[in-house]
Amino acid sequence: MKVIKKIDGMMKISKELKNQGNKVGFVPTMGYLHKGHLSLIEKSRDECSKVIVSIFVNPRQFGPQEDFDKYPRDKKRDLGLSRKAGVDYVFNPDTKEMYRDDFETTVSAGSLKKIMCGRFRPLHFDGVCTVVLKLLNIVAPHNTYFGRKDYQQLIIIRKMVRDLNIPVNIVGCPIVREKDGLAVSSRNKYLSPAEREDATILFRCLNTAAKLIKNGQLDINKIKGQVDFMFNKNKSVKRVEYFDLREPESLQEINDLEQYTGRQHNRGILIATAVWIGGTRLIDNIVLKPGINIS
Ligand code: AMP
Repeated sequence: MKVIKKIDGMMKISKELKNQGNKVGFVPTMGYLHKGHLSLIEKSRDECSKVIVSIFVNPRQFGPQEDFDKYPRDKKRDLGLSRKAGVDYVFNPDTKEMYRDDFETTVSAGSLKKIMCGRFRPLHFDGVCTVVLKLLNIVAPHNTYFGRKDYQQLIIIRKMVRDLNIPVNIVGCPIVREKDGLAVSSRNKYLSPAEREDATILFRCLNTAAKLIKNGQLDINKIKGQVDFMFNKNKSVKRVEYFDLREPESLQEINDLEQYTGRQHNRGILIATAVWIGGTRLIDNIVLKPGINIS
């Protein structure tokens, strides 16, 4: 496994790999690798002959009051895990390498950046799109792997790729969870033991809503009322930013479940939430497939 620090070097290697007939898979990350990241690497290894992982904590996707400085970093451990996982190249540029002093051109993510997480993190998705576009230009992979844990991010990136005709195949991968259902995340490290226990509330609320819908409860106020009750009872929940029911591809909000599920061609239901557990902001989601037993 080789570690590449420079953009020119990464571009050259990727070109050579493709000239040699390799299928190049790419997994962009901010490091502090966990089994969620490793599942993307594994899928990339299954589907491609060479795997490139980037480790770059992107300052542009953090707001001024957010956790860029304290975001967990452990390069030695990340490189060990990457090697063990069969990664061929780790692209690990410095901030200055990615953003020169005179950097000023950015991507604007469009209307989807204003909903869900975007309501609370107004600059986030522009920052994500800008760095992902740069990484895709540098690595120029055949396939790029993203987790559905960051569901809105995945949809926004798919849209960017379509809108800007970027020649890459975006592959969405399932959410990896701890045994008790908590979605694995680098930020789980911030949780105290009590908060860690309470943090399963996100997955429990998503499942409660899903179960209610499957059992025929199509009154959104009643579903949200039940979920609010659960969040309110939980000692570690400081703030629920959103708990939304949305169309999984367009991210359009579902306001009338009865009408929506009655449609012959409904595309299923995304249930997504963002919650502050103590001082840590966590997100999670589940998707009900079209044609689930919704009456
Ligand atoms: P991050 O390092 O947090 O930017 O995440 C890098 C990639 O890993 C993104 O595509 C995430 O969606 C994905 N990812 C993070 N956590 C998980 C998880 N629990 N399951 C699946 N994918 C994940």
